[in-house]
Parts: sequence; C-alpha cells; structure tokens
Amino acid sequence: MTSRRTRIYEGKAKILYEGPEPGTVIVHFKDDATAFNAQKKAVIEGKGVLNQRISEFIFTRLNDLGIPTHFIRSLNVREQLVREVEIIPLEVVVRNVAAGSLATRLGLEEGTALPRSIIEFCYKNDALGDPMVSEEHITAFGWAAPQEIDDIMHMSIRINDFLTGLFLGIGIRLIDFKIEFGRLYENDMMRIVLADEISPDSCRLWDTKTNDKMDKDRFRRDMGGLVEAYQEVAKRLGIISENEKPERAKPKLVKSD
Ligand code: UDP
Repeated sequence: MTSRRTRIYEGKAKILYEGPEPGTVIVHFKDDATAFNAQKKAVIEGKGVLNQRISEFIFTRLNDLGIPTHFIRSLNVREQLVREVEIIPLEVVVRNVAAGSLATRLGLEEGTALPRSIIEFCYKNDALGDPMVSEEHITAFGWAAPQEIDDIMHMSIRINDFLTGLFLGIGIRLIDFKIEFGRLYENDMMRIVLADEISPDSCRLWDTKTNDKMDKDRFRRDMGGLVEAYQEVAKRLGIISENEKPERAKPKLVKSD
C-alpha cells in the first residue's frame, strides 16, 4: 500500500510521502533506530508502531489543549497525516533533570533535579552533529526571528508542563525531551506549530519508583528491552491494553551493528 506514493524525504526514523491533498504530508514511522549521529544503527521490530501510537496520543491531547501541532490524524498504526510545514532547523531540548549530554558537559550526576526547567537549542545539521547554539546564533543566521523564538519558548514550557503531569500520573519521571517546530502557512497567515514527534525515542522517561529507563537510552546504552519498555509506556498511557499482543509474536533483543 505504500508503493505508488511519492516519497518526499527519508530520514533516520521516518519517511515522508506526499499527502492526499495539497498542504498535507504522510509520515511513516520506521523501525530503524539510530544514535550518536547515526554511527550506531539497528532495526527494532515494533518500535515505529509504538512511537506512532504514543506520538498520536500526545499530539491529540496537545491539539485539544490549544497548543497547535502539525498532526491531523493517524491513517494506520504506522502512519499519520500531518500538515505540511517549513521545519525550523532547530532541535529544542527541554530539561527538568540532568542527564545525557548536559550531565557530561556540566559534570552533573545523572538524575540531579535542575534548579528550574532549562531550554536548549541545537542547530539541526547532521554533518555538524547538531551543535548547541544560542539565540544570538539563531537570529544572526536567520534560522528563526526573535518573535518566533519567543513563541517556541512559550510553547515548549506549556508542552513541558503538560507532559510532566501526564507522565507523573502514570509513574514516569520526564527527565528531558526534544521537540521540533515548523511554520504553517495558511492563506496570508503564518504560525509556529509543533511538528515531528514526541515519543520514547525523543524523551528520557524514568520509572518514578525504580528509576528504570523507558526510552531510547536502552538502545544508546545497549541495555536491551526497548520494545518492552515502549510498550509499558503505551500501556500506562492506556493506548494498548494489558494483554494486547505486540506486532510480532516474540520480543527480540536489540541488535546493533
Ligand atoms: N534527543 C533527540 N534527538 C537528538 C538528540 C537528543 O531526540 O538528536 C533527545 C534525547 O532523547 C533526550 C534529549 O533530547 O531526551 C536530550 O538529549 P541530550 O542532549 O542529552 O543528548 P544525548 O545524550 O541524547 O546525546
């Protein structure tokens, strides 16, 4: 069913196809996993479906809250219809607890609560390894206007507040996450909307009781059990039922090459 569509772009974890109407795009969530700027790669069966379903759940709620997103609706378990946007070339990272590159950079122990939530920007450029940049760089190079950065920061804080509460309610600590924004052109108007995805691929999620990692760090750090962890997130969110079978019969261990 994916044969006669025009492919617009293939990224590391998703494929974009032309949508059925102008101004729409179909996003296909692949099972491919990459880390460390794609130096580490694997196919993890079932990951794409779980990410699509978790992201659908979150984007639907954000839309309901009045936080504009590109999401229109899911087409099937692996694909969603979204509005075509002009992606702003920034990865916006929101952090509540020290982990990953922040812990390394500032010599903080992973798990240390930050004095307040911190927003960081990285310039989306694989060849450069997505370097961290400041608002000065963003405006000087014209990646986003000051008003757009303002909108992005306000929306990011609202998204963080919503997600923190959502996950806390199901026994999960939202450590940090990465989001992307796009410009949506409608008639003569342009507005900034949330784009891309929010899933355990782009968040750090720790079980509040055990501190178990329920996110892509399981792949980055060769811990195994990634699909099982993502399934647990989906179960707690009420997206899949307790006894729903995953896409495949038996869980496989994460393999990297
Ligand atoms: N992140 C992401 N894509 C990236 C880099 C980071 O989704 O290309 C997410 C990552 O999963 C984490 C947060 O952004 O939830 C902060 O990541 P960090 O800067 O600590 O980088 P990492 O340690 O993942 O390299």
